Amino acid sequence: MNRRPEFHSCLISVLAWLFVLFAASAQTSPNDSQGLSIFGFSPANAAAERQLEAIFQALPSPEKAREWHRLVTAEPHPAASEQNNKLAEFLALEWRKQGWEDVTLRRYDVLHSGPRSVSLEMVAPIHFKASLREDPYAIDADTKNPAISGSYFGYSASGDVTAELVYAHSGNPEDYELLRKNGISVKGKIVIVRYSNPYSYRGFKALTAEREGAAALLIYSDPAEDGYTRGKVFPDGPWGPASHIQRGAITYDYIVPGDPTTPGWASVPGAKRIRPEEARSLPKILAMPLSWRDAKPLLENMNGPEVPKEWRGALPITYRFTGAVKVHCHVDMDTSIKPYTVAEAWIRGRDLPDEWVLVGNHRDAWVYGGVDPGSGTASMLELTRSFGELKQRGIRPRRTIIVCSWDGEEYALTGSTEWGEQFGEELKKKLVAYLNVDSAVAGAATTAGPEGLRFAPSAVASLAPMLVEASKDVRAPSGKSLYEAWRATAMRDKKLSGPPTDSALVETRIGSGSDHTVFLNHLGRPVINLGFTGNYGVYHSAYDDHFWMSRIGDPSFEYHTALTRIWGLTALRLANSDILPFDFAANAAALRNFLGELESHNKVTPQQLLLKPLYDRIAGFETAGQELREVTRHDLASGKVNPEKVQHLNEQLLEVESNWLDPAGIPGRPWFQHLLYGSRYTYAHLEFPGLTEAVEDADWKLAAKQVNLLDAAIVKNTELLRSAKSTWEKSN
Ligand SMILES: [Zn+2]
Repeated sequence: MNRRPEFHSCLISVLAWLFVLFAASAQTSPNDSQGLSIFGFSPANAAAERQLEAIFQALPSPEKAREWHRLVTAEPHPAASEQNNKLAEFLALEWRKQGWEDVTLRRYDVLHSGPRSVSLEMVAPIHFKASLREDPYAIDADTKNPAISGSYFGYSASGDVTAELVYAHSGNPEDYELLRKNGISVKGKIVIVRYSNPYSYRGFKALTAEREGAAALLIYSDPAEDGYTRGKVFPDGPWGPASHIQRGAITYDYIVPGDPTTPGWASVPGAKRIRPEEARSLPKILAMPLSWRDAKPLLENMNGPEVPKEWRGALPITYRFTGAVKVHCHVDMDTSIKPYTVAEAWIRGRDLPDEWVLVGNHRDAWVYGGVDPGSGTASMLELTRSFGELKQRGIRPRRTIIVCSWDGEEYALTGSTEWGEQFGEELKKKLVAYLNVDSAVAGAATTAGPEGLRFAPSAVASLAPMLVEASKDVRAPSGKSLYEAWRATAMRDKKLSGPPTDSALVETRIGSGSDHTVFLNHLGRPVINLGFTGNYGVYHSAYDDHFWMSRIGDPSFEYHTALTRIWGLTALRLANSDILPFDFAANAAALRNFLGELESHNKVTPQQLLLKPLYDRIAGFETAGQELREVTRHDLASGKVNPEKVQHLNEQLLEVESNWLDPAGIPGRPWFQHLLYGSRYTYAHLEFPGLTEAVEDADWKLAAKQVNLLDAAIVKNTELLRSAKSTWEKSN
């Protein structure tokens, strides 16, 4: 990366000048060589787009990303804190300076949850008081800040409990089954569990413990998962040291996200709200997180039966189910209405101002948020700076680009949910896609080896091909194209024998746990999530800070810059394309895979449920998608298109994702309306959510109803694509 600013700006002006020349000549010579075409662009516009992208890609700078990162991680800034509100004002000010329009701070009044006092002590067989704090390190001054919170969980119930301790492994339902088999009940007891690997959302562990009748839940970080077993710990490496605490919320937002007291509508000031007792997303159990240093004395003083091998962690103790240990747990939470702030800014489109491309990232962090979300925020500020720069040079996108900084993502995806609910009707019509970045760089480049960190995006299947195409035009920090780096690291990390095919590169299974949720699952708009991953063991702890990122995670800040580039390129292509780059044949192929997985995982027989007709429908949808893609691509390449025709086609393409919504929602969770995408209570992805849950419950009547809903939606979309094709062909 070029770090000399004088050369940098000089290069840009040359490129800008070239762009003007090229754009002018492109008008008169629409010849295009294969390598220059872009999905959804006419040859002339593809050439102009490539020039614009060359200018754009020279703008993001690692040094600027580092500066932004230092600024946004300067102080702890959880949701509803003064520091987080100040940060919203800082972003708004920067966006105005960068040239963005209509910069607005939107306020939502939300039922918040912050700690008043939290304590934990062992009262038998010996006395021990847990510190519930993280150790300072001389090498990192930020770890000494008295503003760092102790241990707590957002939306824990308040209370005071003294009871016997039971170890329940990962706290998933099958773990309680095993306890039952061993004659152990957790009713009225305090349960201690591990943050599990594979990951299951802590709010699922809380609901499970609540259902089992436990009086309180302690979740600790075992070194087997994110500590010394994995490698060097902070401040010498990326993994969690003895005292690191994984804070978090335990909200049941897989039932309904956002402000728990305004389920389904926006928490604008003065909004009606339900009583907290009625809120389905609020836990009734008392819970807190622990470092392994605080958990170890509790575990090693147990004297009951030993656990099976699979339940053992990496601490040098004998792991036992129960025995002798009695614990006193105290949690006092302040649950009152607090203002949250969503910062928003616009660059109005020059041709199609009512078609919106939305980019966003959350701002609130459990402590400093070095990775989560500061790496995303730093990348976003480089994105907005670069887009502002393009605009100042008179290069305005065809469609409108909106940027949002969300608040309270960590609590219940709250800011994005309230904003999405407030503007839902408009978003359903106008939002082309939402491009989310939560943690941009959630891994340590210093321990990633020569291939580097893995690029691990997820996207609705219809946008997967355009994302793969864009990755070929971005350089990865390893020096290869991002596309090549993506293939190589996927092969390495998934232990594949060869590089994955293009269609297998993008993860098209999308769970919850970040701000894309309202747009996809509630409003039926296409989404992409972008980010790099790797070794990272300080999630939601005080050590997830600037030191971690600048010494261990991404010392060169090249990954931040690469992320800004791929984020910008996908946004620009969605904003500037002639025909929106949706590929519904890819969409259909993904559906066939999802259905195949559902069928084989659950061993569905035709006597239970007939799936063959659904496969046939998917095949019809695939053919319609292929045919439309080929005819429009062909005409676009030959320059044979008129703008009204393209516009009419785009309006039809925008309807497809909406048609996947069922306004009644999935059974039991009406807020989640998408028929193809949902999430499990663990936050894990869940395809065909209504159908899959019915099949897993062996409720064949409900499953048949869900098949009918899917069938109707696929038919509707197949007809839509066929009619789009015939209108297109007729209007030549
Ligand atoms: Zn996050």
